Amino acid sequence: DLLDLPVNTIMADLLKKGILATVNQTIDPEIAMEIAEEHGFLAELKSEEEVVESKIETQLEEEDKENLVERPPVVVVMGHVDHGKTTLLDTIRKTDVAAREKGGITQHIGAYKIKLKNGKEITFLDTPGHEAFTTLRARGSKVADVAVLVVAADDGVRPQTVEAINHAKSAELPIVVAINKIDKPGADPERVKRELSQYELIPEEWGGDTIMVPVSAKTGQNLDELLENILLVSEILDLKANPNKPAVGTIIESKLDKQRGPVATVLVQNGTLKIGDYFVAGMTWGKVRAMFDERGKNVKEAMPGTPVEILGFQEVPQSGDGFVVMKSEKDARTLAEQRKQKYEEQLLAKKARLRLEALEGAKEINVIIKADVQGSLEAIKKTLEELSEKFEDVSINIIHAGLGGITESDVMLAAASDAIIIGFNVRPDATARNAAEEEGVQIKTYGIIYDIIEDLEKALKGMLEPEY
Ligand code: GDP
Repeated sequence: DLLDLPVNTIMADLLKKGILATVNQTIDPEIAMEIAEEHGFLAELKSEEEVVESKIETQLEEEDKENLVERPPVVVVMGHVDHGKTTLLDTIRKTDVAAREKGGITQHIGAYKIKLKNGKEITFLDTPGHEAFTTLRARGSKVADVAVLVVAADDGVRPQTVEAINHAKSAELPIVVAINKIDKPGADPERVKRELSQYELIPEEWGGDTIMVPVSAKTGQNLDELLENILLVSEILDLKANPNKPAVGTIIESKLDKQRGPVATVLVQNGTLKIGDYFVAGMTWGKVRAMFDERGKNVKEAMPGTPVEILGFQEVPQSGDGFVVMKSEKDARTLAEQRKQKYEEQLLAKKARLRLEALEGAKEINVIIKADVQGSLEAIKKTLEELSEKFEDVSINIIHAGLGGITESDVMLAAASDAIIIGFNVRPDATARNAAEEEGVQIKTYGIIYDIIEDLEKALKGMLEPEY
């Protein structure tokens, strides 16, 4: 169809290459590219994630400007454990002015949308912490628009605060800081500001550009101000979508329900999702049989920026899977089946992707460093910077550096940012090892700094073009 050639011509071309293909057969992408080129077309190979992403993008580009309407921002809440993420999400949810008209009882479906007094809406991802968010990113989906960083005013910046900052930065999300627990006697918001300024988060009153709102998630103090500031930051992003289209989105959460079968929450990112729509989600497909909002209420359609729980999947999709409405049942089923076929191949390719040894051609190495003590961490950081200077054409980017063992969260960040993990006198735990295996992330552990340099130098030399 794309080449505008009779099907027989393509079949004959394939036959010349020794492939006897039927009309609806899947062929190797390399072969497809060769054939396109033979007919004067330039074909580009894209991953499944890129296709979904570019589908969202081109959809937006091609929109009639008139069709575009404002959509609510999607917010992720991150921060150190016990700093009040869950409490904040719970209290914010209670501020929903539309709650009464919606009725029903609050359900956890992985995300919720609230309406403010001024009529504006905000969607919150309802799984606090950066782990879930990073899992979504590792699958290639861009879901959140703004990050709220929760820092307890009686505790200050802690290791997971720093991790959260790095996760938000790596996803290029604007950060709004909620300095929490200001109702507590020991609260010291000024200290939090001082500590955060060491991580390039400078409050506005000190001449920086980071909005920091002192709040109490427990009493609800200043939450209005926090929400208004989230909207302020979102307005600059100019978030728009076209509701007059078939829906495109991302799976936020999924489960197998004993009574209802496979259930998943989709965040609709463009278009409008309707009952009866056929869709493909990752390697599975289905037909929207029923949709529910975050109060368990039946809904008939879901607009851009809205999370809905859906029934009608053939199998349970994975969170992070792209969700695309298809023209027909046949299209949806065929695409899902083709993806499944390719899955094994893709998995193998993915595993090979990040091998240090296979870095040839890359001009950047992203690394995550974990070490046992601060002294070693600093020494390794310094060494890598020196190494980066020595090899002019190649840069080593330190995505995250922290103390302690290698965790699943490190692995997911590595997968999301195409990084390798370097552990110094620390090891991955079992979950991290499994995740690394699954995501094709390479973990290298060392006990001597010199060995790190030697390995990286070798890799970097392999990457550099030879000079004569
Ligand atoms: P998370 O681990 O970041 O999700 O933190 P939680 O929301 O579970 O909060 C941890 C503890 O701090 C709980 O006992 C909360 O009741 C308490 N907490 C959270 N926010 C506040 C607050 O603004 N003020 C006070 N005094 N306690 C809070």
